[in-house]
Amino acid sequence: VKRNANEPEFHQSVQEVLESLVAVLDKHPEYIELGIMERIAEPERQIIFRVPWADDTGRIQVNRGFRVQFSSAIGPYKGGLRFHPSVNVGIIKFLGFEQIFKNSLTGLPIGGGKGGSDFDPKGKSDAEVMRFCQSFMTELYRHIGQDIDVPAGDIGVGGREIGFLFGQYKRIGNTYEAGVLTGKGLTYGGSLVRTQATGYGLVYFMDEMLKAKGMSFAGKNVLVSGSGNVAIYATDKVHQLGGKVVAMSDSNGYVYDANGINLATIKQIKEVERRRISEYVKLHPTAEYHVGWEGIWTIPCDIALPCATQNEINEKDAETLVKNGCKAVGEGANMPTTLEGTRVFLERGVLFGPAKAANAGGVATSALEMSQNSMRLAWTFEEVDAKLKTIMVNIYKNASMAAEEYGHKDNLVVGANIAGFIKVAEAMRAQGLV
Ligand code: NDP
Repeated sequence: VKRNANEPEFHQSVQEVLESLVAVLDKHPEYIELGIMERIAEPERQIIFRVPWADDTGRIQVNRGFRVQFSSAIGPYKGGLRFHPSVNVGIIKFLGFEQIFKNSLTGLPIGGGKGGSDFDPKGKSDAEVMRFCQSFMTELYRHIGQDIDVPAGDIGVGGREIGFLFGQYKRIGNTYEAGVLTGKGLTYGGSLVRTQATGYGLVYFMDEMLKAKGMSFAGKNVLVSGSGNVAIYATDKVHQLGGKVVAMSDSNGYVYDANGINLATIKQIKEVERRRISEYVKLHPTAEYHVGWEGIWTIPCDIALPCATQNEINEKDAETLVKNGCKAVGEGANMPTTLEGTRVFLERGVLFGPAKAANAGGVATSALEMSQNSMRLAWTFEEVDAKLKTIMVNIYKNASMAAEEYGHKDNLVVGANIAGFIKVAEAMRAQGLV
């Protein structure tokens, strides 16, 4: 704790994983002797760098850039870049740590990493975002590569940012190394379904979990927090499966639409115009807008899908959701539920899909993008979507089997951590003291 002072999110993610692994360590005391736990919680490498750029008025601005290369035990480091003012080393470490187990769960050969900057793309012109991305990549390029470390998007990093980052990497490196970044546009090496993958994958995972208990999305009222990449495509898939998303949010507030959220309107506001979700009620006057994003959890629902950011559901929110009849929660965002909130859901018998398992569809499809880049081929939408679905079903099966095997039937938090951990621990054992 002393060594990682002022990193509460990192402590939270490590605590959750360690608590889950008690039964594994009882069965495999050699993991303790081999120092697997101490090693896995220490990044292999962390890079912090200055990112200077000029704004549209010509003023020099300085942000801080991060890349934490956490574990290469099972493949090159892989994980997104987050651009948000709240970014600091502790946040990037928690995300990188989670990524190790998530990537292992996909069954694909990818290690764990994460990066980003405290730069805020909100309110910046395209030219400013481009200059920032070019400066960021001018340092980052020396640390990444298709066999070394492959970044992707996350909060604040979408198709626009990945395009600018890729352009600068290509220019500096004088190489068309398509597999160095994922989430690319379709005209220059991107994969179909990558844009939809995290949201679709979340709903495929939840559908499998619901089916195992004789339930489905059909006719259910669903809350989806956030209105970014993950939230939008989770909503899309819920609607395809016959559910009704009645509320979405952004960092200022939430909209409630009893008729079901009109996703075309949300996409126009958030993806095209890059404006606030409050605009929604101008086009749908029977819907309500409320200031304050936390309020979304007070709306009665059958299923809740937190898809915005970490720690957005606390113990009190979890109590309210359960009291109002919520039967299932699927984490689209990373660590959106606090440890206390998670405990409430598990103790009250709410079906709970933890982030590591439930949102792994994004990185899995990124790995499929890397495969297509290596083969210099492009698969169809249907091919990639079918592979994504198979991966999500397998993640559900592996996590629930591990939970049962280690005496925690139906606890997918424990199951996902164990299933993800064992493969990495075995790879570390085989590779010696590295
Ligand atoms: P986006 O930037 O596309 O969207 C983020 C959304 O969450 C926005 O609506 C944003 O609102 C809202 N939000 C951000 N911070 C806060 C906050 N502090 N309080 C309330 N709302 C907030 O990001 P993504 O959709 O890509 O990512 C969302 C989550 O999913 C993150 O936890 C990310 O790590 C996780 N994730 C993403 C993957 C991906 O493939 N993109 C893969 C796996 C996990 P506003 O517009 O006001 O900023």
